[in-house]
Amino acid sequence: MGFAVDEETIRKYKRAGEITGNALKYGASLVKPGVSVVEVLDKIEERIKSRGAGLAFPAAASINYIAAHSAPVDESEVFHEGDVVKLDIGGEIDGFVADTALTVDLGNHEKLLEASKNALYNTIKLVKTGVDVRSLSREINRTITSFGYSPIKNLTGHGLDKYVVHDEPAIPAYDTGNSIFLEENQVIAIEPFASSGVGVVVESGEPTIFMLDHEKPVRSLTARRILKEIKSLNGLPFTIRWFYSEYPKLLVNEAFREFRRKNMLVEFPPLVDMSKGLVAQFEHTMIVKGDKVIVTTMVK
Ligand code: MN
Ligand code: MN
Repeated sequence: MGFAVDEETIRKYKRAGEITGNALKYGASLVKPGVSVVEVLDKIEERIKSRGAGLAFPAAASINYIAAHSAPVDESEVFHEGDVVKLDIGGEIDGFVADTALTVDLGNHEKLLEASKNALYNTIKLVKTGVDVRSLSREINRTITSFGYSPIKNLTGHGLDKYVVHDEPAIPAYDTGNSIFLEENQVIAIEPFASSGVGVVVESGEPTIFMLDHEKPVRSLTARRILKEIKSLNGLPFTIRWFYSEYPKLLVNEAFREFRRKNMLVEFPPLVDMSKGLVAQFEHTMIVKGDKVIVTTMVK
């Protein structure tokens, strides 16, 4: 058993991981009170592309009780003193994805961050060929609750595949009772979310992150051009902001209204802790290798 992954593929996963891990560190250094959120996301994405990787999905900066999927379009939005900022970013080389996240604390939330970070690193130590995902889930749960926080139960780690960011298996933050055994060369991401609230997220607000579901004929020239670009992404997610630098904003918005009206897109609205608890997240991508694990997104 196991996944057939050749050396060339592993090399691409490592390269994507190295570029994305470094871009994440760089992004974290930019997050400060008063700094524009969009500016930081643009700089992170520029860094990934300038080093020769593609974007596996739009960089997200999810703040405080927003746990994930926040990619703002409004340039006036800034980080504030006290914020808990999750940066979650993805790069890819020929479709081989690196998915990694960290939390920047602009307040005094060290313990919350430690809960998520420790859950990630404790769990990575258990990853090996043949391990039951249930034991990883139990470790995430045990670590986060030991800090007095709730693991978010409806956000999970996941497998990765070529041009696929979220693949089987799900790696939940609690023991679901479903045994799944990791296989040699399997690529997974582990991403424990710690919440000071109930640890359940719900969708809230307008989506800015999308994926192409199926194509339909579109009317306007801008919509046709944008659709052509979207189709070149091999099914990977994108954000409306990416097109603002290429076409007039009004026309981009109109094109997206048409895509959405025609149900052409999968939508990823922001996910928020339903009790408005503060949320921290850390994430790495790794390749399962016998008794060891290659953490592709870990950088010095
Ligand atoms: Mn992620
Ligand atoms: Mn992920």
